Amino acid sequence: MRIILLGPPGAGKGTQAEKLVKKYKIPHISTGDIFRAALQEGTELGLRAKEYMDEGKLVPDDLVVDIVKERLEQDDTKNGYLLDGFPRTLAQAEALDESLRTSGTPLTGVINVDVEPEELLERLTGRRVCRGCGSTYHIKFNPPTVRSVCDKCGAELYQRDDDTVETVKQRLEVYRQQTAPLIDYYSGQGILFTVDGSREIEEVFREITSILDQQ
Ligand code: ADP
Ligand code: AMP
Repeated sequence: MRIILLGPPGAGKGTQAEKLVKKYKIPHISTGDIFRAALQEGTELGLRAKEYMDEGKLVPDDLVVDIVKERLEQDDTKNGYLLDGFPRTLAQAEALDESLRTSGTPLTGVINVDVEPEELLERLTGRRVCRGCGSTYHIKFNPPTVRSVCDKCGAELYQRDDDTVETVKQRLEVYRQQTAPLIDYYSGQGILFTVDGSREIEEVFREITSILDQQ
């Protein structure tokens, strides 16, 4: 199963990805997570990416595409994978298509998680992430049992540097201009499935799995 989770920042891609990869036993490939991990390790990639992330802008296509291509060559992707946050531009989508054509491994489907822009600001500014295992919470919509502590691993929760009001607004605009056109791109290929991401986390999950189980 080779899946893309598409949708604006805050749509719930990471939240659904956590649950989907557990169910389908495939790796979760999040380009945002890759950049944050690189930054934590202090690599040149991480430092380069940070310049763009802090401003809510996209990391240049060539950099992102190379990283994803390399990641997709690893053995654990043989039975599929879930891409989260990639592709984000038409150039990235075309590069991915080209690479999948070469390897003869077409996408199973693209799940477009649809949420109104007004809701996204509250979701993102209230998001908290676990420093240990990367699990995602929300102070109001999906709070941990104990404030600022991860239910799953007990590590501390933190707020991402780019989840401030100003940066979120910039990221939503970047999504509208550069990523939203991918909806038509994949719809044209007949592999796009749109789900209503404004409902409860469990309901969204049920809808996505019912789509994937039919593919
Ligand atoms: P993305 O990966 O698309 O940027 P996340 O999965 O990190 O989005 O979710 C953004 C925020 O919204 C998080 O704080 C998460 O807990 C919360 N969230 C995710 N799905 C829902 C939902 N269906 N209803 C309410 N809040 C949600
Ligand atoms: P995310 O964790 O998906 O919200 O991504 C956080 C940030 O990482 C984005 O705002 C971008 O700066 C960068 N990023 C992640 N994925 C991509 C991508 N596919 N293309 C360009 N930039 C990306």
